[in-house]
Amino acid sequence: MLLLRPPYTDTSKLGFGQYFTDHMFVARYETGKGWYEAKVVDFSNLELSPAASVLHYSQEVFEGMKAYRSADGRVLLFRPEQNARRMSRSAQRICMPGIPEDLFLQGVKDVVLKDKEWIPGDEGTSLYIRPTMVGDDGFLGIKPSKKFTFFVVLSPVGPYYKEGFNPIPIYVEEQLVRAVVGGVGDIKTGGNYAASLLADTKAKEKGFTQVLWLDAKEHKYAEEVGSMNIFFVIGKKVVTPALNGSILPGITRDSVLILAPDLGYEVEERAVPIQEILEGIRKGTVTECFGSGTAAVISPVGSLHYKGVDYLINDGKVGEVTQNIYRHLVDIQYGRSKDPYGWVQEIGRI
Ligand SMILES: *Cc1c(COP(=O)(O)O)cnc(C)c1O
Repeated sequence: MLLLRPPYTDTSKLGFGQYFTDHMFVARYETGKGWYEAKVVDFSNLELSPAASVLHYSQEVFEGMKAYRSADGRVLLFRPEQNARRMSRSAQRICMPGIPEDLFLQGVKDVVLKDKEWIPGDEGTSLYIRPTMVGDDGFLGIKPSKKFTFFVVLSPVGPYYKEGFNPIPIYVEEQLVRAVVGGVGDIKTGGNYAASLLADTKAKEKGFTQVLWLDAKEHKYAEEVGSMNIFFVIGKKVVTPALNGSILPGITRDSVLILAPDLGYEVEERAVPIQEILEGIRKGTVTECFGSGTAAVISPVGSLHYKGVDYLINDGKVGEVTQNIYRHLVDIQYGRSKDPYGWVQEIGRI
C-alpha cells in the first residue's frame, strides 16, 4: 500500500478512513485509580490480551468528528463538546467509565494540532477524528472490565462528493433490524455496526447504496439510513423521526434541527410511518429525503426501494431544501460564513 502523506498531490485519492496520521492520543483507566498516562504517542498497534473484554463482549464505544482547515489557515472543530458528552453517555450505558470532557477535548486537540499539516485543504476534505474506548482487562467472564484504554486516531479524508452531490438509491429493509428500543442503538458502540453489516451487504449486492432501517417491533416506522439520521421534506416541513430510544442522536441531526428554522423551514420530530412516505412520494407531497451524519454531512436520497417497487424522489435530483441546508452547514464548518450558534471552535492555525 502506498502511504499518502502531506503535502498531498491529489486529495481525491485519500478516500475515507484508509490512511492514518503519524500520532495518536492515548489514555488509560483503571477502576480505583482513574485516568492516567494521557499522552500523544506515535501511531502504533495496541497491545491487547487475547482475553481482553472488548474482543469477547464488545465493551467498546467510539465517536466520529472532523477537523477542518479554513481557507485562511485556521484549524476548526465542529461542536466537539457534543461528541465528548455523547461518548460518556455511550460508555456509561455499557458499564464503561465516562470520560471527563476536558480529557476528551484535550486529547483531541493535542493530537490534531500535533498532526495539523495532515488536514487536507481542498473543498470537501477534512481530517476525520476517531475517539475510541475499549475494555482491555484480560479475563474471561461476563462482567464489566476494570481496565480501559481511550485513544484518538486521525484519518485524512478526501472530498466526500467526488462526482458531485448526487442522490443515492436506498433499500428499505423490512426483515433485519438495526436496533431495538431498550437496547444500545442510541449509543455508538461497535456491536450495532456488526449487526448492520449483513443487510448493508445484501443491499449493496442489489445495487443500493444503503439501507433504510425500520423500527424493530412493527417494521412500520422509518428510523435511520445506513449510519445516518434521516430527514424528509413533507409539504413545507422538514421532518425527522423523533428520538425513540433506538435512534442515534446525531449531532448533524441536531444541527439541522437548529439551522433549518433559521433558513425558513418548519421542523418536526415525530414517528414517521414508511407508508406515509411512500404514498407521499407517489402523490408528490414528499418532495425530498436526505441523510445526516458527520462523514457525508448531508446525503441526498434519490429513491426508496420497498417490496420490489422503486419510489423515485424529486426525479432523482437534489432538492432545493437539501441543497440549501447542506450549503449553510458546510459554510459554517469551514469557517466561511457567520456562526451565530457558536458551533465552530478555532483550536490553532496552520
Ligand atoms: C454516528 C451516527 C449517526 C450520525 O451522528 P453524527 O453525530 O451526526 O455524526 C447517525 N446514526 C448512526 C447509527 C450513527 O452511528
